[in-house]
Amino acid sequence: MDRSDSQYAQAKLAQLKGQYQIDVSADWGDGEGEWKPGSWTRAELDRFHSAIDLMADAMGGPEAFVRHIGGATVRKADIGSHGGEALAHRVSLSIKGSFSSWTVVHEFAHAWDANYGWRLSKLLEKYTGGFTSPFLAGILKAAGLADTERFRPGKRPGRYGRRPGCNRAGYFYGDRPSGSNWSFNRVEDFAESVAMYVGWERDNDLSQHARKRIVRYQLKNGDKDPFNIIDNWTYYAQRFYPDNGDYTRTKRWQFVDDLVKGRIAIPDVGGRHPTRP
Ligand SMILES: [Zn+2]
Repeated sequence: MDRSDSQYAQAKLAQLKGQYQIDVSADWGDGEGEWKPGSWTRAELDRFHSAIDLMADAMGGPEAFVRHIGGATVRKADIGSHGGEALAHRVSLSIKGSFSSWTVVHEFAHAWDANYGWRLSKLLEKYTGGFTSPFLAGILKAAGLADTERFRPGKRPGRYGRRPGCNRAGYFYGDRPSGSNWSFNRVEDFAESVAMYVGWERDNDLSQHARKRIVRYQLKNGDKDPFNIIDNWTYYAQRFYPDNGDYTRTKRWQFVDDLVKGRIAIPDVGGRHPTRP
């Protein structure tokens, strides 16, 4: 952050707090008479705010956003190779390099899930007809039926562990997610489903990314997708490509739509988390 932008940034932070109960930890400012630029740029602060606006719009407005997320602090931190990390009320974005609007929504979806004791991702798993069974996944891998190397993810086409159960978690996703790999599980599924919902066909900062997630299944086997990954896309189309390429026809889109429109009751397991908005 440049010193000349400090007032602008201050106003932005106040806005984020007032509208969304989000506290961005400012790592810039005047320190002992010397300006500390910190890690945020003015453009990033704008991008961040816009992404939150989009997510809140999809949820039904700022009040709904605050109800769902319950307030959060955001900081930039060294979190290894990840782009972001989230727990209830706490989101971290990588201090290495910048972040995308997609990452912001993805991480806030985790914070949303976490605020409800990770029950939202369980509901998604059930709604879409999936289940998690490390035991069954172990059998699949042992029998050589997984699209991985034996017991570990591969680094070549047809070996990334995209098929149901062929991931570290033993997550057998149901219906058609926009993608899957070794790291996929119901929690990641929920976060990606929320980001897909926010971006899909809305002509916003997430829309191009959402589109790329789907069109790659129209590529030929051995082609490079928009994320520079070579895989057997035609083969995987049957798992991931929605009817007529229309993502709104997937159970995941429907689930998030039902969730934000209050058509899904969130079970209470006691504790301090609210059940229904
Ligand atoms: Zn994630």
